[in-house]
Amino acid sequence: MASEDGDYLLISGIKHYKFCRRRWALVHIEQQWAENALTTDGHLMHETVHDSGFTEKRGSLLLSRGMPVKSESLKLSGICDMVELIKTPDGVTISGRPDKYLIYPVEYKRGRPDERGADAWHLCAQVLCLEEMFATDIPEGAIYYGETRKRMIIPITDELRNEVRAAVYEMHEILKRGHTPRVKPQKACRNCSIREICNPSIMSRGSVRDYIKEVLNDN
Ligand code: SF4
Repeated sequence: MASEDGDYLLISGIKHYKFCRRRWALVHIEQQWAENALTTDGHLMHETVHDSGFTEKRGSLLLSRGMPVKSESLKLSGICDMVELIKTPDGVTISGRPDKYLIYPVEYKRGRPDERGADAWHLCAQVLCLEEMFATDIPEGAIYYGETRKRMIIPITDELRNEVRAAVYEMHEILKRGHTPRVKPQKACRNCSIREICNPSIMSRGSVRDYIKEVLNDN
């Protein structure tokens, strides 16, 4: 599923891709989706944070919720849960504001810090868009975890940037070919919200479309 701009990828797909390339392809190419308890709770939390385009002032801080972002060079677009704009003379100018600000994205997640680094990828993708839009450097951001009620600071290192850029290029390639990667059964399959659709025990030979075709041809 690309964004409305056709060949743009949605930032939200990055975390699916990190979790499992096939999951991303099923959701974003074959447009399959199934809610489970984990994703439903996550959506509720995001709806609270995404009070679309809302900006709140707290002293020298502006809080921008649901900010649309985009990178033309990566052909990537999406929405940031929250971008904190911290007033400082070293910052960048924001349209319609007389002051300068440092840009600090904060992503909200329902659960605990993830072991696979998918949340850091998601945040980094937002950073790459924000840096391009505001022509600035963003050395770190944060992820707030609902279960621990804590913010985790994420340094946006060169290594992280390179991983995310490489993943985005791969995703564009896969999207262009319309190819769904094969199943690689893994531990993550147990908590995967689309395992019923993916069906890793049966689907190790190809895409859902291919599988359905095979079943129909056998009958
Ligand atoms: S069930 Fe496993 S292989 Fe299938 S999409 Fe989910 S994580 Fe990937």
